[in-house]
Amino acid sequence: MGAIGENLQAVRGRIERAALAAGRDPADVTLLAVSKTFGAAQVREALAGGQRAFGESYVQEAIGKIALLAGSGIEWHFIGPLQSNKTRPVAEQFDWVHSVASLKIAQRLSQQRPAERAPLSVCLQVNVSGEATKSGVSEAEVLPLAQAVVALPRLRLRGLMCIPAPASDAAAQRAPFARLRELQQRLRAAGLVLDTLSMGMSDDVEAAIAEGSTCVRVGSAIFGSRTTSAAEAQGG
Ligand SMILES: *Cc1c(COP(=O)(O)O)cnc(C)c1O
Repeated sequence: MGAIGENLQAVRGRIERAALAAGRDPADVTLLAVSKTFGAAQVREALAGGQRAFGESYVQEAIGKIALLAGSGIEWHFIGPLQSNKTRPVAEQFDWVHSVASLKIAQRLSQQRPAERAPLSVCLQVNVSGEATKSGVSEAEVLPLAQAVVALPRLRLRGLMCIPAPASDAAAQRAPFARLRELQQRLRAAGLVLDTLSMGMSDDVEAAIAEGSTCVRVGSAIFGSRTTSAAEAQGG
C-alpha cells in the first residue's frame, strides 16, 4: 500500500475512534478527501484505497481533473469560494456544493443544473464566530437563505458548513462546531429537513465529530502538505 492508502486508513481510524468516543456510529460520518492542488494520479491512488468522495476548491483545476477521471465513479464535492461567473461548470459536473453563501449563487446553480442529473446537493456556508475567512453568511442570515434555497427546484438543501479559524486546544476547536450544530437544530425546528453538518478538517476532525459532524473534509492528512498555491492551482 502506498502512502496515500496508509494515510486514508489512519484517518478512517481517527474518525472511528472519535465517533465511538462520542457515542456515535462511525458510519454516520462521511470522509471527504480534499484533493485540491493534487493531481489525478494521487486521486487514483486514493480511489484504489477505497475512497469515493473527493472535494475540490478551485473550479478550473477541478474541471480538468474530473475530465481525466471520468467514469471512475467518484462523487465530486465543490467546497471552495464560488463566484457567479463560475457556477455553470460546477452545476454541470459536481454532485455537491458545500459553500453556497448567497441566494444569487443558489439560483444560478439551480438554473444551470442539467435536467438529466439528480438535483445538486448543497450546504450553506456559515460564518460562525472565529471564522478564518470572510466567506459564508452570518448566523442571522441563514434561516431566510435556507427557506429560499429549499424552494429552488434543481437544488437539494442538505445542511450547513463552516471553516473555523485554527485553534490549538480541543475546547476552542469545539466551540464554533457547537454553534453550527445549534444553528442546524434551529433550522430543523423551523421545519427544514437537513441531514448534513460539513465540518472538520485534518487538524480538528475529532472536535467536529464530537459536535455532530456528518462530513469531515480532510486534505493534508491524506495527501500530504500542499506546496502548490491557490493561484498556481487556478492556472495562474
Ligand atoms: C483545503 C480545505 C480543506 C482541507 O484542509 P486540510 O487542513 O488540508 O485537511 C477542507 N475544507 C475546505 C473548505 C478546504 O478549502
